[in-house]
Amino acid sequence: MGIFNRFKVSHQARDCGHISDQSEIESPPGAKIPECQPKKIRIPLNKVTTDVKNRNGLLVFPCPVCDIINTVPVREVHPIMGSQPMCQDCGDIFHIPGGYRTGTEINSLKIYAGLPVAIKKFFIFYRNHPVIHALNEQGLSRIIIQYGIWGFCQKCHHEFSPGVLMNLPQNTSEVVDYRSLSSADEMNEMRSLRQGKCPYCDHRILLVIISEIPHYVVSASENLSHRWEED
Ligand SMILES: [Zn+2]
Ligand SMILES: [Zn+2]
Repeated sequence: MGIFNRFKVSHQARDCGHISDQSEIESPPGAKIPECQPKKIRIPLNKVTTDVKNRNGLLVFPCPVCDIINTVPVREVHPIMGSQPMCQDCGDIFHIPGGYRTGTEINSLKIYAGLPVAIKKFFIFYRNHPVIHALNEQGLSRIIIQYGIWGFCQKCHHEFSPGVLMNLPQNTSEVVDYRSLSSADEMNEMRSLRQGKCPYCDHRILLVIISEIPHYVVSASENLSHRWEED
């Protein structure tokens, strides 16, 4: 996979009902502010480990879910995009940040394990996720299409496009803007996920990882933005 292959995916923002400064100023005290989010829900976060050692070119760490020690060759971890290997025991999927290879920001990094989320509940999960809210507040929401969200079928481990996951509607009656999807594969994924199932094995649960975004990823996405449109 090319360095920034994922960056090609086009993204049409679906931010809803943003309240402008103007309307906030004009609203009298106690005025009802229009709600665009589903009601506030406590979202379970991904299990993580910071107990990561580098022994002779191997990253050694316990699976945050089953505690079995996993080893991953450092050279298989992309310096920026990281890697998403599978637990050797429980079959969960990890996200290993690229900083573990380069030694960048190593003290703030962690390895994430996928969290099972029913496809039908993904919309609510994503819309209420604290990391997503934090990115919106920092004006970094566009970066999530490039880095920070991974979704796999729990059974066949097919990796879904982040562009599809982010644009998945809340229910089957909502209209999807298929122009925001860039390939036939993505349209196939969207059609099937809207029915609540994996297009390849009909399983109904995803393993989802939503991670914090290290500074080196933010810098890389800014510095390399002109490459995003290259094939
Ligand atoms: Zn495991
Ligand atoms: Zn599947």
